[in-house]
Amino acid sequence: MRCLMCGKSRDEGTFRDLFDPQDPLCENCRSQWRKKHIRFRLDGVPVESSYVYNDAFSRCLIQFKELNDEALQDVFLYEVVSRLRFRYRGYTLCLLPSSEEKTNRRGFSHLRLMFACLKMPMIEPFVKVADQDQKHLGREERLAMRDYIALKDGVQLPEKILLCDDTITTGATTLGALAALGRKAGKVCIYAVSANVRWL
Ligand SMILES: [Zn+2]
Repeated sequence: MRCLMCGKSRDEGTFRDLFDPQDPLCENCRSQWRKKHIRFRLDGVPVESSYVYNDAFSRCLIQFKELNDEALQDVFLYEVVSRLRFRYRGYTLCLLPSSEEKTNRRGFSHLRLMFACLKMPMIEPFVKVADQDQKHLGREERLAMRDYIALKDGVQLPEKILLCDDTITTGATTLGALAALGRKAGKVCIYAVSANVRWL
């Protein structure tokens, strides 16, 4: 089996490559990800992340999202599947919205693929009301993103909600989702696979 990022054959790799051949990444690529159990609160809601967002994580995410490399879908949660399934038993995964236009361009919902390995109930209850690409916005404008997310019409919210995203950067998108849930939600937690270093 070959590493999905560098293409190196796992058979010629390190001890871990041979010991854990199911990991889609070789030890060298995996070691470039900064694994860290990060916990903080956003508007009083508990947030959990498993990696510090860095270049290696970003490269992999871009290859998955922008280059439509669906083969990478299980890479992101590979190391934490059991933990998350145990920790959030009884929760429904509520995927944060990406802009529809982008999803259509990609032809797949990248979060749906990324979180499928948890084999937990999953819904996409939100829509982005306006299509804003955050990277072009300043900090103030990013914070205003909280206004751009709404619940889809007629959506039935589950009792226990785990808001899921690939990365939490400013938290603006997540705050937008929390605002959209308002008081209609029961118990809410947030999980982002990676978190910006500012949240450490
Ligand atoms: Zn590799």
